[in-house]
Amino acid sequence: MFDDINELYQQVILDHCKNPRNFRELPQCSCSAQGHNPLCGDNLKLFLTMDGDVIKDAGFVGSGCCISKASASLLTENVKGKTKSEAEQMFERVRDLVTTGKAEGDVGKLAVFAGVYKYPARVKCAILSWHALMGALKGEGQPVSTENEQT
Ligand code: ZN
Repeated sequence: MFDDINELYQQVILDHCKNPRNFRELPQCSCSAQGHNPLCGDNLKLFLTMDGDVIKDAGFVGSGCCISKASASLLTENVKGKTKSEAEQMFERVRDLVTTGKAEGDVGKLAVFAGVYKYPARVKCAILSWHALMGALKGEGQPVSTENEQT
């Protein structure tokens, strides 16, 4: 099922799944958003601490499958120090990556999700935390759901 490169990617995903980074609430957070993927049962909450336009810190809590947790873990690592618009750009890239297997520009470690598009049921798991990120940045405070996601 997995070729060599995907096996390597799988290792990274498993690592982040078992030992999620930034797996904590941020009590002083500037914004947060809840993400829910009813298809899989993934539920997570993302917290951001902003300094003006820059994401200073990010954390998440919740439960879900390996892909959703690894995605949230890598997200929190990747968005720290990024501006709002950089994070939005990253969201676009990740969405392209998990739906087509390709992304424009550099996605760094997030490349590990390149194989996800082959498993349509997992795409929503991989993108869930990114929707939560967009929700938090918009400051709408509304729970986001992948239910209406067109993939
Ligand atoms: Zn899932």
